[in-house]
Amino acid sequence: MLIARKGDLIVCPNGHVGGHVLRDISQGETLEPRGDFSLTDAASHTKEGHCCPQCPEKITRYRDGTYQVLTAQGWIGLLVKV
Ligand SMILES: [Zn+2]
Repeated sequence: MLIARKGDLIVCPNGHVGGHVLRDISQGETLEPRGDFSLTDAASHTKEGHCCPQCPEKITRYRDGTYQVLTAQGWIGLLVKV
């Protein structure tokens, strides 16, 4: 089941666009920034993920090399369990 399509926008809960998805992504896949999604340069990186370029909301979540990104459909990508 596809949960994101190439070109889908990464958006914060306030509707600001922070990037886009670079390929079709199915449920349960793990994501990395290279090849899977792209963020605008203004998105600020923290230890837990990236913040929206225009407000403090999170647009990615990070754990041990894997990411979740927030799209209009919700959080996509699987975080590695530690
Ligand atoms: Zn925002």
